Amino acid sequence: MKEYQVIIAGASFAGLSVALKLKGKVLLIDTADIGKRQISACGAPLDVIEGVGCKDSILQISNLFSLHVNGREVYFNLKKPYCTFDYFRFCSRLYSGTNAEFLKASVIKIEKNDLFVVHTSGGKFASRILVDATGWKAFIAEKLKPGYVHRNMLSFGIETEVPYREENFHFFYEPEFMKNGVSWIFPCGEFSRFGVASYSGERKLLPRLDVFLERYRLRRRQVHGGFFCYSLKEPVVDNVFIVGCAQGQTLPLTGEGIRRCIKYGIKCGEIIMRILEGEISMEEGLEKYSRSALGPKRKYSWLLRLQNGILKTPEKNLEIGARIVSSRLLSGFLEKRYLGI
Ligand SMILES: Cc1cc2nc3c(=O)[nH]c(=O)nc-3n(C[C@H](O)[C@H](O)[C@H](O)COP(=O)(O)OP(=O)(O)OC[C@H]3O[C@@H](n4cnc5c(N)ncnc54)[C@H](O)[C@@H]3O)c2cc1C
Repeated sequence: MKEYQVIIAGASFAGLSVALKLKGKVLLIDTADIGKRQISACGAPLDVIEGVGCKDSILQISNLFSLHVNGREVYFNLKKPYCTFDYFRFCSRLYSGTNAEFLKASVIKIEKNDLFVVHTSGGKFASRILVDATGWKAFIAEKLKPGYVHRNMLSFGIETEVPYREENFHFFYEPEFMKNGVSWIFPCGEFSRFGVASYSGERKLLPRLDVFLERYRLRRRQVHGGFFCYSLKEPVVDNVFIVGCAQGQTLPLTGEGIRRCIKYGIKCGEIIMRILEGEISMEEGLEKYSRSALGPKRKYSWLLRLQNGILKTPEKNLEIGARIVSSRLLSGFLEKRYLGI
């Protein structure tokens, strides 16, 4: 059986960010080819995408977000620009910065002896360190600890990319398009990504997406999407590092996860590297990662309260609230707090 120092299951934002920091024998496993399974609108702060050397994947940049609520538009001028990017180019670029070997296969089963034995559709592999970056399903954590995934705390979203030129980012809290959730337009050059998401995990969203598109006289094209989990969970299960959406790093309210999957993926990779170099013990590394990945717990639960509160607030009051927080001083303060999570 082939042996590695580290095996990472899942080669998207979180898994690739862990790999970015590792030297030595590393195996990245994913069911899909790298960059071929886009689920998201691929919007993130510009400095995050540039910071991991993926500038050439950027499609559009804007400082302006407009929130549509109660039939009105409220503008937010961001201090830090936001961008959309090309998922395939982003992942390929990130992967090229790693030392990892890639295997296209599904992880099926895990055994733990002195080493982890990872059973995949492409054979068995062993490693001292194992990382679960398999997204909301947290495939490995769920296998090791059934019930790890909080199935009652999943949002579900879909989107389509259509030819439509737009200058800024749009969010909609308009029940006409989406009840118990949010809709968005994310511009990406000659195209824009139109999406709808349900906070309660409702899955029949195609008719809602169509109504949203019709408002702009557009027709649906290929659709992608999926679940995302909004409960922050244990970062370590049976000595396995759980990263990204698998651990619940996608934020409630905004559904933003890429920034945090990259941030905590990198953190996890740095800690694993220190273990491999003998600078810290395995136990110390697991403890350090746990503390770091649970750091934003209080701010995270604030966003969850806001998400629940918004669903119960009359639209008129939401509009008033949005106008208050859109003032230059307050929005700058809140943006800084939000980006600190
Ligand atoms: C419609 C929608 C729009 C979104 N838009 C945004 C946005 O604009 N900005 C933002 O910040 N966030 C957005 N998000 C959230 C964002 O997509 C997630 O936070 C992010 O994808 C999580 O990254 P990840 O690497 O943890 O997991 P994922 O991106 O889900 O990747 C998990 C990987 O694991 C692989 N995998 C799963 N099971 C196995 C297995 N058994 N064996 C091998 N491989 C496996 C999968 O193939 C996949 O490649 C959006 C989500 C949705 C659904």
